[in-house]
Amino acid sequence: MNNTIVGFPRVGKLRELKFISEKYFRGEVTKEELQQVAKALRAEHWKFQKSAGINLIPSNDFSFYDGVLDTAVLFNVIPKKYQELNLDEIDTYFAMARGYQGEAGDVSALAMKKWFNTNYHYLVPEISDDTEVKLVGEKPFEEYVEAKQFGIQTKAVLIGPFTFLKLAKYQGEKKAAEFAQDFVKGYVEILKKFESLGTEWVQFDEPALVQDLTVEDLNLFNTLYKNILKEKRNTKILLQTYFGDLRDYYQEITALDFDGFGLDFLEGKETLHLIEKYGFPEGKVLFAGLVNGKNIWKSSYEKVLGTLEELKKYTKEIVLSTSCSLLHVPYTLQNENSLKPEVEQYFAFALEKLQELRELSVLTDTDDYRIEKEYQENKELFAKERLGQNPDVKAKVDDLKEEDFIRLPKRSERQKIQKDDLELPIFPTTTIGSFPQTIEVKKNRTAYRKGEIDKAAYDSKVNEFIKACIEKQEEIGIDVLVHGEYERNDMVEFFGENLEGYVFTEKAWVQSYGTRCVKPPIIFGDVKRTKAITTSYLEYAQSLTDKPVKGMLTGPVTILNWSFPREDISLKEMAYQIGIAIREEVLDLEKAGIKIIQIDEAALKEKLPIRQSDWYTEYLDWAIPAFRLCHSGVKPETQIHTHMCYSEFNAIIKDIDNMDADVISFEASRSKLTILDAIQESGFETEVGPGVYDIHSPRVPSVEEIMGALETMLKKIDKDKLWVNPDCGLKTRGILETEASLINLVEAAKILRKQY
Ligand code: GLN
Ligand code: ZN
Repeated sequence: MNNTIVGFPRVGKLRELKFISEKYFRGEVTKEELQQVAKALRAEHWKFQKSAGINLIPSNDFSFYDGVLDTAVLFNVIPKKYQELNLDEIDTYFAMARGYQGEAGDVSALAMKKWFNTNYHYLVPEISDDTEVKLVGEKPFEEYVEAKQFGIQTKAVLIGPFTFLKLAKYQGEKKAAEFAQDFVKGYVEILKKFESLGTEWVQFDEPALVQDLTVEDLNLFNTLYKNILKEKRNTKILLQTYFGDLRDYYQEITALDFDGFGLDFLEGKETLHLIEKYGFPEGKVLFAGLVNGKNIWKSSYEKVLGTLEELKKYTKEIVLSTSCSLLHVPYTLQNENSLKPEVEQYFAFALEKLQELRELSVLTDTDDYRIEKEYQENKELFAKERLGQNPDVKAKVDDLKEEDFIRLPKRSERQKIQKDDLELPIFPTTTIGSFPQTIEVKKNRTAYRKGEIDKAAYDSKVNEFIKACIEKQEEIGIDVLVHGEYERNDMVEFFGENLEGYVFTEKAWVQSYGTRCVKPPIIFGDVKRTKAITTSYLEYAQSLTDKPVKGMLTGPVTILNWSFPREDISLKEMAYQIGIAIREEVLDLEKAGIKIIQIDEAALKEKLPIRQSDWYTEYLDWAIPAFRLCHSGVKPETQIHTHMCYSEFNAIIKDIDNMDADVISFEASRSKLTILDAIQESGFETEVGPGVYDIHSPRVPSVEEIMGALETMLKKIDKDKLWVNPDCGLKTRGILETEASLINLVEAAKILRKQY
């Protein structure tokens, strides 16, 4: 059986592309040097795939920053403000990606958005009425030819016109459909060009097809592709979907004259049923996405081969593929030196997945794969008892009862009790948790990591930072203090490291956007808290002041969403395991005299399913309870806060209120104020702290500006429910601007109090 992948990661095995790009941005290397590294990386990636035995290797899956941005530039979708800089091609591209400030002018970057349900972010193309859509770039052809020079006949990959038009932002009157013909022309031209180069397959990525679509959307899709497919000659077109299934549109879409359909059998839970129910079009090739492109576990050969056997009943020609691009997994286990073999045996990163594809392909061609060694070994791994199981944890989850998810008394009563007990002024001031991570803070951590100082020395330094932080906050006059989070550099890693069941990697980086990569920890086994994690720091902080110090934890959904999850148990079960661990920490904090505890859910929305019909059944029905589980056991006097880094939660506002926190803070500066209407209209009960200034910039907001923001908020929010705080943690900020901003924030609250 032939095999392929949807796409390969681009940043390089050791993030070479990141480092050379950043050097280029700083003016330390030339364009030529940048291009050379990129070219070498592409060559390396093709060679990896070739030597691993991949038959149909993709090209144009490389990108300097982002594939959607590449597509925009390819079709001349370059807003005027960038064109007017008069930079060359690559610098215009980077100006769109990162903004530009220099001799040529001053423009901000395009907006960035989450790529469907992943942690990858794309740049949002901007189309205005006078945008002249036409094919102007050469990148796909150049890279195709480049691969051919290595003797590799690649499958050229492009983001399809439908997904592109769905993701773009329209600045003027004209909407997507009005640009359809221009895109048809452009894509037809691309096909012709590939035709002349002798390309066998072109892959159009259309993940937008797995969303809920309207009739208009489907019309747009049909218009685009009926016209493009009309012009098809020898080069075959693969319609590639991923992150879900085609559901209601399966029949309609597969009736179109594509030569191949790439379907996701993992996140596309309905894909197999759809084929069983409606069959698969004759004479077409099925690109079966069976190896997970999003997670780091080995595939079960039994499962994959079983599905392939079933599929063979419906179609003759199958190409084994990944469920989506391997962009979402780290490069290779070869980079890992500290993973124990008994742990590592379960993992497959990108390179190891290539290996799996080859082995699986070979197995399908044998008379009886069940007797082959590769199959047997893989089967044994899945059959034997899995490492990291903990019956106690399982029992705790099984024993959870309805009341464990319900906090009593109800919130309106608690709010009264807390008002009396905490004696806070109206418009209480607070911060989101972290204070600037200065060089000394980082030095302390590094010294401890390297073993230069012991835990006691490390902690005593952390306590010094805490003391200074408390003193500063008292001096500024903040009402609810924080300890500053000096003991952690990352809100998930810190808890992962202190919980049993987690595994960490050294170099398992995954691109999050542009040159930024993240290294998510792996949930390997059952998650358990074995010791108190934050109490000693909080207890110390509280001992220094009479004002309440807010305990600071990360919530279970965020911990889960920013980790690689297990595949042998459900997300719900993992969320509950982590929820129980955080609950234990919450109760310990309470016992230690902490009266206010914030449980951050910065990534709550991250894994909200793409289709609205799946929101509850697949996600919110356990995600919200997992949060409630953390705090349902506290006394009525204990005030529970949560925080989210965004305010686009209008659509799930009821669910946010159902988390049953007493207070929520979120980002609301700039133009994000529509949330205020939603809060008012939904009868939102949780007290709210919409961020009064943007911490992502070093700018110090004036007192008047903050008052202005608060006055706007007071038009929609009850005065007894409004908190005053920045919009996120302060850890990336400098000390000076932080102090100046907080002084103004406190001043604004004081002036406002006099008026109410
Ligand atoms: N408490 C965390 C902080 O202040 C929250 C970070 C976040 O929301 N991303 O840094
Ligand atoms: Zn935040």
